[in-house]
Amino acid sequence: MIVIPHQLRKSEFRFIRIAMDGISARKRPLDADWQNTNNFKYFEGDLISQIDKGGNYGVCCGYGNLAVIDADSALIAAIVKAKLPRTFTIRTGSGGHHFYYLVPDLDKKIVLKDKEKNHYGEIQWQGSQVIGPGSIHPSNNRYIIIDNSEIATVTKTQIEEVLKNYIQREQSMEHYQRNESANYQFIDVRKVLTGQYTAKGNNELQGKHPIHGSSTGGNFCVNVEKGIWHCFRCGTGGGPVTLIAMLNGLIRCDEVKPGCITPEIYNKVIQIAKDKYNIIIEE
Ligand SMILES: [Zn+2]
Repeated sequence: MIVIPHQLRKSEFRFIRIAMDGISARKRPLDADWQNTNNFKYFEGDLISQIDKGGNYGVCCGYGNLAVIDADSALIAAIVKAKLPRTFTIRTGSGGHHFYYLVPDLDKKIVLKDKEKNHYGEIQWQGSQVIGPGSIHPSNNRYIIIDNSEIATVTKTQIEEVLKNYIQREQSMEHYQRNESANYQFIDVRKVLTGQYTAKGNNELQGKHPIHGSSTGGNFCVNVEKGIWHCFRCGTGGGPVTLIAMLNGLIRCDEVKPGCITPEIYNKVIQIAKDKYNIIIEE
């Protein structure tokens, strides 16, 4: 029978019940709105009776400043072990690691990915749960404690420093919009774009970079509402003027930066916009 480990027996933490209807459901929360309302303290009867029946349980992140570094990749696990304090650590049923930390100044979940958007795991926070130690994975492996230390406290800055190559700033859009031009003008970039894209949310499109392509298939994204774009390979981005310049060979993607639109390029963009896309850019 599963017993919730002493490190997690704190009244500020919250736990959830996991579904029991079949092997594939062993990671699925049972209760609706578990993030906010239908979660339990470690001693509460509805949780305990589910566990006693053989059910798995999930640990809600964010409550009591509890963050879990959910390391899918052995590389991330090695970095955390080498550079952050020892802490309560679980080997997951799929062979990954859950490093439990208290991070009082964390404010949201962080997705760990490199510049090419390859996924390495997450730092789970409010709104996410991880399957608790002792639970059984769909593969039949148990989530086991591999470091029985107490849960260590770290700061968000410590985590960001250690994992900086795997945390991509969300700077992209707003930041580059300001770089585009003093008189930024909204233009429907869908009139300009070539290539195939997948919708990400209401306003974003993601796909292969239309000029230099992508090895992962999704290194380029565009916010059509704001008229701005970002390339994850080059770490560049901008608005419609740089997009038109790039798509028409006036600048390379990796050359895009503040000041890259010279008066000469700007004049060519205005001409191309008018002739090719029927878009009038105000000078
Ligand atoms: Zn690029």
